[in-house]
Amino acid sequence: MTAKIIDGKAIAEAVRLEVGEGVKRLAAAGGPAPGLATVLVGDNPASHTYVGAKRKACAELGIESFGHYLAATATQDEVESLVRTLNTDPKVHGILVQLPLPAGLDEEAVLRSISIEKDVDGFHPINIGRLAQKGREPLFVPCTPSGCIVLLKRAGAKLDGANAVVVGRSNIVGMPAALLLVKENATVTICHSRTKDLAGVCRQADILIAAIGKTEMIRGDWIKPGAYVIDVGINRKEDASKKSGYRLVGDVAFDEAAEVAGAITPVPGGVGPMTIALLMQNTLRAAERSFKGD
Ligand code: NDP
Repeated sequence: MTAKIIDGKAIAEAVRLEVGEGVKRLAAAGGPAPGLATVLVGDNPASHTYVGAKRKACAELGIESFGHYLAATATQDEVESLVRTLNTDPKVHGILVQLPLPAGLDEEAVLRSISIEKDVDGFHPINIGRLAQKGREPLFVPCTPSGCIVLLKRAGAKLDGANAVVVGRSNIVGMPAALLLVKENATVTICHSRTKDLAGVCRQADILIAAIGKTEMIRGDWIKPGAYVIDVGINRKEDASKKSGYRLVGDVAFDEAAEVAGAITPVPGGVGPMTIALLMQNTLRAAERSFKGD
């Protein structure tokens, strides 16, 4: 293996320590304990796990968390009215609505009802719109894509002028990741399921972000020698040696890619740990901003 492994766990831990320090500094200045409200609708087990992990991270860092649970039968009005109540609660600085919402609820309308000052997930259309505009800054940037940028920077990647390729154009990962790379002055190509000669496009990438959701689709010979590779994908692959019968792998064939890339994130232990760390950072920023009255 030639590539440097980008240790997402260690980098996320460093970000969490910085957030913990920030929480203490805010308290010392007479500020509030940052508060994160989580809204979980329905019984999706994965969503329960994610919300549990986020609330645990809050507890470890001195961030207050307020868990709100609604039944899968909740109406659009019930969800939006909960969000509106949280918008006016001074102890709540950030609101996280765990996605996906149960079928029948209008996700876009719920996200739009979150006050942009409390949109710590960064999914409000105004925050995304500002991310896409030159000279405008969003109040918050979505956590997984900004985690990718933090990983690249802390691993020493040069983004300015680099050829960056993002595979995937979802609202949650691919598109905001591409917009962030543009803000960093990279030249960005966005690929998706209709892209022709995907392998050829990937081979041009100094920076490659894979956010597809397809097991090990990106092969070693798609990687430009020395490239920085960020693998966002989380996929299950059969593995009889595991008790569960599977193991987690990314969208990149890790062993092959690591022979060619300059640096690469593993799955698990790469992008995954960054998402919660960046959510904690956004919640601290929301509390700091509300304290300063910005
Ligand atoms: P989506 O399914 O919303 O988007 C997948 C994207 O990949 C789409 O833009 C799609 O193109 C594109 N795509 C699908 N098939 C191909 C193909 N054969 N060739 C090229 N492009 C293709 O997924 P998400 O963005 O939500 O998530 C992507 C992955 O990241 C998943 O594995 C998910 O589990 C993981 N993830 C990890 C997180 C973390 O914290 N580490 C957080 C969020 C997601 P098109 O638009 O044309 O359909």
